[in-house]
Amino acid sequence: MSLRSAIEDFLANPPVQSGFPCKIDRIIADLPKEDAKALADLIDNANISASAISRLLMSHNYDVKPASIIKHRKRGEANGCRCKK
Ligand SMILES: [Zn+2]
Repeated sequence: MSLRSAIEDFLANPPVQSGFPCKIDRIIADLPKEDAKALADLIDNANISASAISRLLMSHNYDVKPASIIKHRKRGEANGCRCKK
């Protein structure tokens, strides 16, 4: 494929990054598997407020604001983070 047709293909289907970069995803990726699952489940538990989870994480030296948790809960939506659903 010539460069020009590669560019045309690229422009016809550009790689678009939508949403906000995600702090939660980075923290989860760095945790041991069991901890990662526990945290992911906690964050997706709609019965627990984002600010309560934020306080828990802050007390373990993770700088996570409630807004980051809310965005991660809305991942994949226009006002959510970039993480996959
Ligand atoms: Zn996220």
